[in-house]
Amino acid sequence: MGMLGKQPIMKKAYRPLTYVLTTEEADKKIFFNLLTHEMIAIDLGELESPEIRRYFIENWYLVPKEHDDQQLVDECRAVLTLMDSRPKNIHAFHIFTTLDCNARCFYCFEKRMAGSNMTMETASQVIEYIEEQAKGDSVYIEWFGGEPLFNYPVIDYIADGMRARGIQFKSYMVSNGLLFDSTLIGIANNRWNLEGVQITLDGTGEVYNRVKAYVTDITDPFERVLQNIKGLLKADIKVSIRLNMGLYNYREIQDLVDFLCEEFKEERNIKIYTSPLIEITNYTNDEKVFMYGLLNEMNGKLKTLFGKKDKKFFSEQIANNFCMASGRETVTILPDGKVGICEGLTDVLLGDIYTKELDVKVREDFGRRFYREDKCRPCPLYPDCYIVNGCPNKDAKEGCDSVDVQLQIKRIKEKMRLRSRSGSSWDGVGSARQLGKAGEEGETEI
Ligand code: SF4
Ligand code: SF4
Repeated sequence: MGMLGKQPIMKKAYRPLTYVLTTEEADKKIFFNLLTHEMIAIDLGELESPEIRRYFIENWYLVPKEHDDQQLVDECRAVLTLMDSRPKNIHAFHIFTTLDCNARCFYCFEKRMAGSNMTMETASQVIEYIEEQAKGDSVYIEWFGGEPLFNYPVIDYIADGMRARGIQFKSYMVSNGLLFDSTLIGIANNRWNLEGVQITLDGTGEVYNRVKAYVTDITDPFERVLQNIKGLLKADIKVSIRLNMGLYNYREIQDLVDFLCEEFKEERNIKIYTSPLIEITNYTNDEKVFMYGLLNEMNGKLKTLFGKKDKKFFSEQIANNFCMASGRETVTILPDGKVGICEGLTDVLLGDIYTKELDVKVREDFGRRFYREDKCRPCPLYPDCYIVNGCPNKDAKEGCDSVDVQLQIKRIKEKMRLRSRSGSSWDGVGSARQLGKAGEEGETEI
């Protein structure tokens, strides 16, 4: 609203903005404007009042019939991008220590390459590159692969090298977690500044071991990974467990969720969530409805136990940072020193660490907003959605499938009703408060 200002009232026919979701709770109608992120509840009996209508026009819930809603969102996003005060230089580096891996998951999108480890010579150039790009800022490193621990000496080398040059850094890792042990966890904590690890599980013991199909000779990989998760947590390293779910394993994932809820019920440094496999795009509509419903149910259960208690119901403005490929601050560094834009693709390249030049046009083409006239124009989620044009998963991304759009809208409406029931005040909606429609004394009706 600070950016938009109040919409002038004109003698015109008005209609609801495409991005206003409505639902009802008790004797109130709740409106959530996904453009301004303001939510307001109105007594049903007052909906027709001139004061409310004026409020709705001034605060962009109603717009003239011929209004271009989408253009307004695009303009807002452009201004938000200009106002974004985060550093513009590259200071986040997703480093592929190798493209090789000790697992053989059937769904893996990466082209595994044996013998593709980053060498120490390249690692030494990587340190120089990071120092030059970061320009004195602290940096964020994500260790990626293949399996990054397959070539952990290079992690040691880069971390030590950055420390020796006085580069402030913290790091994160995407790993299957199998190769950790107590020594490595200690090193990760003290030398890699490792703050968190994302580990994927596909089911309880037997299913996990079958899907991962490790080439390393380890008796019970599931048990080993579980112990490593506990070791990481003990060392105060956060663990994010991603549960890949598809028709092949949905029963086992339900068992696994129950198991993990019990096993980690006292743990606060853990996040557990289910995620659909990309193959969900090929499911029938019925299968999609079933699968998204189950994902929703599982994630709700997991959130209740492990979700951040202080998390806001809704963010206060439209989202403006989506994935590494939508900004200009993050690059990938491949084992051979090539610089890329997206960790899901190793063949879209911007340049390399040796010449230090980046192809701006590739970045622009890749990072452009993915847009489908028939789906995105009428989609109420448009203000909070930004899927980059080059994303290899763009068709499977949450939101791009109409079944999931409907489920997301349903989830938002549930949150709206919950928020309305909770009754406490909500910062960032001063204008709604001024309307003076509070239900009980001292309570803001939002
Ligand atoms: S473009 Fe897609 S695959 Fe690549 S980083 Fe972004 S979300 Fe991930
Ligand atoms: S959720 Fe899908 S349909 Fe909606 S705006 Fe985003 S990409 Fe378009």
